[in-house]
Order: sequence, then structure tokens, then C-alpha cells
Amino acid sequence: MLPSFDLVIVAPSAHIDGRSTGATVGVTDGRIVFIGDVDAAATGTTEVRLAADEVLLPGLVDTHVHVNEPGRTEWEGFASATRAAAAGGVTTIIDMPLNSIPATVDPAALQLKRGIAAGKAMVNVGFWGGAVPSSLGYLGAMHDRGVFGFKAFLAPSGVDEFEHLDTEQLNLALDEIAALDSMLIVHAEDPTVLDAHVNAGGRGYREFVASRPPEAELTAIEHVIAGVRRTGARAHILHLSSAAALPAIAAARAEGLPITVETCPHYLCFTAEQIADGATQFKCCPPIRDGANRDLLWQGLLDGVIDIIVSDHSPSTRELKLSHDGDFALAWGGIAGLQLGLPAIHTEARRRGIHLDRVVEWMSTRPADLVGLERKGRIAVGADADLVVFAPDDAFTVHADELQHRNHITAFDGSSLTGVVRRTWLAGSVVDIAADALPGGTLLSR
Ligand SMILES: [Zn+2]
Repeated sequence: MLPSFDLVIVAPSAHIDGRSTGATVGVTDGRIVFIGDVDAAATGTTEVRLAADEVLLPGLVDTHVHVNEPGRTEWEGFASATRAAAAGGVTTIIDMPLNSIPATVDPAALQLKRGIAAGKAMVNVGFWGGAVPSSLGYLGAMHDRGVFGFKAFLAPSGVDEFEHLDTEQLNLALDEIAALDSMLIVHAEDPTVLDAHVNAGGRGYREFVASRPPEAELTAIEHVIAGVRRTGARAHILHLSSAAALPAIAAARAEGLPITVETCPHYLCFTAEQIADGATQFKCCPPIRDGANRDLLWQGLLDGVIDIIVSDHSPSTRELKLSHDGDFALAWGGIAGLQLGLPAIHTEARRRGIHLDRVVEWMSTRPADLVGLERKGRIAVGADADLVVFAPDDAFTVHADELQHRNHITAFDGSSLTGVVRRTWLAGSVVDIAADALPGGTLLSR
């Protein structure tokens, strides 16, 4: 006779140890304490049997989310962002140090953010710090207070209060981060290349893409690789758009350099050919490129050169994103997709014959590993019971108005997607995203 658990989930299919299998999962005190086969005689205070068309997944871990609170709460905010995350099967987010005001570039700003998030987080929330010119030399104070690493831009960030690093400062940051045994996460576009390709403005998508060419990414990534080789610091390339950089990254990893890479659903689901002039809901930096490039990004994932897929959820107000008559030079550069990452990637992966098990590795297990959250991103004894019920064959059409994001704008509006998140558990409790529900998220430190 097995002991009784707080929660027992019987799943005809569950993602365990990298593959799908039938399982009974027992949860007590928020942790997974038992995994048996589907007909294990486990009993629980609550017992849930998944339907035949449902799969039990570990909750997604999205290490690239711009919550923008405090300071730009009209763009998003901890309540709406974490509600969108829960609705999309994301149980842990790591918040970017910009575009909040203040940016998270010192302990006081981190403390302020943690205080605000504490009363609002519907899912687990951790924080990145910022490596900006003024915080260099002082990163240890934020490291000691639990940030998961430090973000730097190598070109202007889009907001004045978060300045980019030049190559010399990049190397200083890497020295400091190596000494802390932390990680630098890098927006890798080179300002010299960008300056040589300035967009004259206007509605043309092709002109916008031409203003941020692949060589901007490649040049910046080469600077990062050289710095990592010199210092031994861990570095992570954010939102890789250009597949032209994959050979250099693969070579650096073959050399044994500690470099990881992410890409995002919008680069894997859309192509430049599909984007109409003036459709600024698709504007992001670096930009969405052509279909051949997209195929190479998928190949980079399959080859293991690209490690993870994260949203880079970067919303703004409707006015900043969609006014200006479709001028790509003036619209805010960022795509809102936090709630849609799993179905978007599952839809495109399935079209390419790629199993959901790989998607879970890219969106849950490996992002958890990237930030050292070894109890997240997996269904295993001892792991936190952050779980998702996903119906991989259920289809739906995205209506931006129905999303939980504060601003109902997304590049995915109107997309037909396959795969519906039916339920999300956080530490063994069903997440209720009703406006008056109590936030059950935990604030995470490295
Ligand atoms: Zn970002």
C-alpha cells in the first residue's frame, strides 16, 4: 500500500526523462515525491486523471521576459505578465532588468522590484541584473542578492536609462562576471555595423531588415566569443535571429568555451516574406529574417548549437507599437508572445516532424538548467510540482483581445495554432488566473 499524497495525477502520457510515457505522479508539500506507472495504486487528497488527449508536461521556464514594472506598468506589469504566463503554461519567468524604471542596475532597484512582484506574481519570478557602464565594478552587490546573471547590450537598447557597453566595457564586465562565477547575457548587435545601415524610416519591412543585417549579430557575437576565450566567463547570446552566426558559435563551443544561445518563437514561426509593409507588430531587434534563415535556426536547435527557446516578451502600449502609420523606424521594437510560446512552437515543430519531447527540452528543462534551477523544468522525484496539462491536438485561433497580456497586441494575432494549455499547477496547486485570485508565485534567487 502506497502512502497517500496531497495530489495524485494519473497521466496516460507525461514527459519524463526526456520522453513521453504513462505515469502516476504523487505530490506532497509542493514537490513531486512519487512517480509510478499509470496503474500504480496511489491515493491522494486530490486525484486527477488526465483525458486521453492530454499530456502532462513540466511547466515552462521563460528566462527572457520584460515585465516593465515599476515605471512602465502601462506596457505590462507583474500581475498581467504572470497571469499570461500561467495561461500559457509558463510557471517560471526571469525578468529582464529593462524596461522598468528604474532599471535593475543596483541593489535598491532590485529590492524595489522584488517588493512589487511579491504581491502580484501568479507564477515564480526571478530577476536578471543589468551590466551597464555605471554598474561595472559593482555587480557583486546584485549577485549577492540573488540575480541570475547580468544583461548587457552592445548597441543602444532602445531606452535611454539602460546604456550599452563598448567593447572595452564588455571585457571589463566579463572579467568581473568570471570572478563572480556568474553569467553575462548579451544583446549581440554591433553598433558600428548598425550605424552603417541606418533605416531612413517608412513602412517598408525589407528596408527595416536591411538596417539590422546578419553581420551586426555576427560581429557582436565574435566580440563576445573573444572575451569569453580571454576571461573564461560564461556568456549567453540572447534572441539569436541570424543563422549566419551559427558556425562561429559551434566552433566556439567545440573549443570548449562556455557559451549558450537562445532563439525565440517569432524567429522560428514567421518569415520576412510573410510580413506586410507597415505591420509593426512584427518589429523586433534583431529582426525576423527570411524563410531560409528560419530553416537554419531550426537546424541549429536540432544540432544542439541553439540551446533554448524563450519568448523575449517585450510589450509596449498600443500607441508606441502601432501608431506612426506603420513606420518601422518609429514603432517600439519588441514582440508580445509570453502566453503563446508553447502552442506556437509546438505547431511549427509538428509541421517539421519534431516531437513535443524536444520542445519541452528547449522550453522547460534547458532554460531551467541555464539559470541553475535544477528543481524546475522536469517531472522527477524531488522536483517542484510546477506542471502543465497540454492538449497537443487541440487547435485554436489567436485573438489578441483574449490574451492576458496588458496590451492586446501580438504578432501572433490571427494565427491558427495547435496545442492548448488546459491547466497549470504551481507547487501542486492549480493556478487560478481570475483577477481576484491570490498570487501564489514564489520569488526566486540564484
Ligand atoms: Zn529582450
